[in-house]
Amino acid sequence: MSVLYKGNYVQGRWSRPSKGVELISEDPGDLLVPVGKLIVSADGVAPAVEAAARAFPGWSRQPLKARIKKLLDLKKALVSRQESLIRLTAQEAGKPLAESRREVERLAAKIDEMVGEGLRFVRDFSVKVAPRVDGQCRYRPLGVLAVIGPFNFPAHTPASHIVPALLTGNTVVFKPSEYTPFVGQAMAEALDQAGFPAGVFNLVQGGADVGQRLVAHPGIAGVLFTGSTAAGQAIRKAMLERPRVNLAMEMGGKNAALVLADADLELAARETALSAFSMAGQRCNATSRVIVHRGVIKPFLEKFLCAVDRIKIGYPLEEAVVMGPLVSHEAVAKFQRYMRLAEEEGFETLLSGKALGRWEKRKGYYVTPAVHLCENPSKNRGSHYRLEEIFGPDAAVYRARDDQEAVALNNEVPYGLITAVFTRSSSRFEKIASAVDTGMVNMNRGTIFSSGRLPFGGTKASGSFKPAGILSPLYCAYPAAILKDRRSLAERSLPL
Ligand code: NAD
Repeated sequence: MSVLYKGNYVQGRWSRPSKGVELISEDPGDLLVPVGKLIVSADGVAPAVEAAARAFPGWSRQPLKARIKKLLDLKKALVSRQESLIRLTAQEAGKPLAESRREVERLAAKIDEMVGEGLRFVRDFSVKVAPRVDGQCRYRPLGVLAVIGPFNFPAHTPASHIVPALLTGNTVVFKPSEYTPFVGQAMAEALDQAGFPAGVFNLVQGGADVGQRLVAHPGIAGVLFTGSTAAGQAIRKAMLERPRVNLAMEMGGKNAALVLADADLELAARETALSAFSMAGQRCNATSRVIVHRGVIKPFLEKFLCAVDRIKIGYPLEEAVVMGPLVSHEAVAKFQRYMRLAEEEGFETLLSGKALGRWEKRKGYYVTPAVHLCENPSKNRGSHYRLEEIFGPDAAVYRARDDQEAVALNNEVPYGLITAVFTRSSSRFEKIASAVDTGMVNMNRGTIFSSGRLPFGGTKASGSFKPAGILSPLYCAYPAAILKDRRSLAERSLPL
């Protein structure tokens, strides 16, 4: 049975656009049963931004305690609908159940982290500037923040912006991905259940055109974006004439696992295979490159290919599935294009990624894992396959002469999200951690593991140096300096 479309959520009310474009939300793992149908229109943007702007003065002036209380109410609302949200995420994003569960269960933890440690980073502080002169740093909210979400983490990435934004006193207009509108709707239902004042949180459904209209609205004070680097760049360009709009961008990746000569190869093989292929590689922090010391490449590859062979492909709602389908027909075509490019650009195919079109009885965007090998990294430098984000289940294995070449290969891509280093030596890890140019570095954990209690973000084309994770309140507020001089005129030495 398909999900009932409620429309946009503006000023505390749901309303379906009377005219617009029809959007069908597919289940990428079972195309015969769509998740639901929507009518979307960019005309919904202006009323949502206006509602958020009206609500801003009241919400930003509420005492912090009152805002925390509402976020804790949101936590209760999310927990009360956890099971249905997990299934919806699995179905609409094609995300295996265990991963959907981890994502949705993280929402409550995110709220706890934000009202706890997260607030520490935007806590006002006082300084004694001089006798009877006091200074204070006060964090102030920005205004109406647009939150734009991707399909692959449809609940958690928007929440990682919405929660700190509301906590620090901003109001929000959220546009979910056009591939996961019903997860977006379920998130808005939870916010509605929590009883935020009308207009504090608003939802507008639609595709890139709705996102463009939203970021172009003059009432927006900031854009908190998670998605591809291409879309992020388009937003940046649209903002060239509006430097006052704050941009926090979490974008793509082309992440590497470095397997050093002294690594535990079995551990490295399993962690890396999981990081490359779980969720069919559709994660910003997926491992797409495995850079292996030449002395251990042969035994590593044997173990790695065995681990890949154990990856269970299947319908995301079935237990124990690790790799579901790709999200769309376009994603399958893109994956196939890169499979051709890998061969044309001189990579050896160890496992060829194939489009299956179905898995058992279900028609869907299923593909198989791909592994390519580059034995001589000086050969096909600068190739498309080597440098671009594929966002599918593909791992390129590079043979590196030494640690120095491994670091150079890690740093050669335009992205800079995360690196995993497999080694038994802490000092070797430390040397590499300070030489790689990524925003996150893991020792003996695959690239897909991170902690909500640390910053989450990348350098270069992966981000804007405004990481999410525990530091996200920082990009939702600005620090104002207040100086109070209580000295009389006689106490001052003014030159006039
Ligand atoms: P996408 O860029 O296609 O879409 C993301 C969102 O942006 C959607 O809501 C879309 O409608 C909107 N959008 C697209 N063009 C726009 C424009 N010009 N103006 C305003 N809005 C626009 O990304 P996707 O396919 O949904 O997600 C996958 C991408 O997201 C990958 O590149 C992945 O690496 C990245 N991602 C990054 C992180 C991170 O934290 N760094 C997390 C998840 C996903």
